[in-house]
Amino acid sequence: AKSAGRNQYCFYQSSTGQQTADELKMEQALRHALQQRQLGVHYQPKVRLNHNTIIGFEALVRWQHPTFGNVPPDSFIPLAEKLGLISALSEQVLDTVCEDINSHGLLGLPVSVNVSVSQLTDPGFCRRLCRQLKQYNVSTHRIELELTESCLIPEQAEATMRLLTELRKQGFRLSIDDFGTGYSSLSYLRRLPIDTLKIDRSFISELPDNEEDSQIALAILAMARALGLEVIAEGIETAVQQDFLLNAGCQTGQGYLFSRPVPVTELDVTEDILV
Ligand code: C2E
Ligand code: CA
Ligand code: CA
Ligand code: CA
Repeated sequence: AKSAGRNQYCFYQSSTGQQTADELKMEQALRHALQQRQLGVHYQPKVRLNHNTIIGFEALVRWQHPTFGNVPPDSFIPLAEKLGLISALSEQVLDTVCEDINSHGLLGLPVSVNVSVSQLTDPGFCRRLCRQLKQYNVSTHRIELELTESCLIPEQAEATMRLLTELRKQGFRLSIDDFGTGYSSLSYLRRLPIDTLKIDRSFISELPDNEEDSQIALAILAMARALGLEVIAEGIETAVQQDFLLNAGCQTGQGYLFSRPVPVTELDVTEDILV
């Protein structure tokens, strides 16, 4: 039952398999929003759990449509992927991140951006990322790439390995997002040049009462330690969850408990202490 909740909501679900009028409208609206560069970016702090100090930010795309209102990324990201628009979308997100780094500083800390699977199979991905950052004079060391386990297609293990190695060599930090929800084998994971595992929110939300989830969180932490990887827990909403994770040896996290994703101008970050 729970696994269903871990699946992403998909936009195209009409029973006939045909696009409904609403879906077509949404498609046109998304194309328009991209052309007009109307997508925004919000930032959610990542914190050190023992002191609540900020250690970085995750950039999350936002789409405020005049009539549809706020459209959630979980619905328009799959749509952008389906329409072949995800590279254009990601490029706009990174443009905004670079502009915000240059005009607001973002404390000089790393900023994470989310990467979709189709970007990883694009042979020019690393080269174009580097060129884009260079245009803004932003160092690759400032940018962390969050890849989901679904990005790590086993059939493309060799190509993925080459790409991740190249990205790492160029200075990007790499993390595996939504960790625990995919099927990547440990032996594969062990060989990948990644820095961080991000424990999926679905394992955090019922801590500490849910015994199964507690065990999974502990197992991921133990595994990360064994592999020498950093761990961050996402979706922390309560102090009880924070305490559980701290006691389990998890040093970093993010979630509504600390801050929701907010516009760059609403980040209270002259100090790295969250207020
Ligand atoms: P994600 O990468 O796993 O991002 C975390 C999501 O959890 C975000 O939802 C964030 O707002 C939400 N979240 C953070 N803390 C909490 C919490 O304490 N409780 C709860 N209930 N939720 C929390 P958001 O912004 O709606 O994004 C959803 C997904 O859309 C992201 O999941 C990511 O897969 C995708 N996405 C967002 N922005 C981008 C982007 O720029 N590019 C790509 N390719 N995907 C993106
Ligand atoms: Ca993410
Ligand atoms: Ca995640
Ligand atoms: Ca997710």
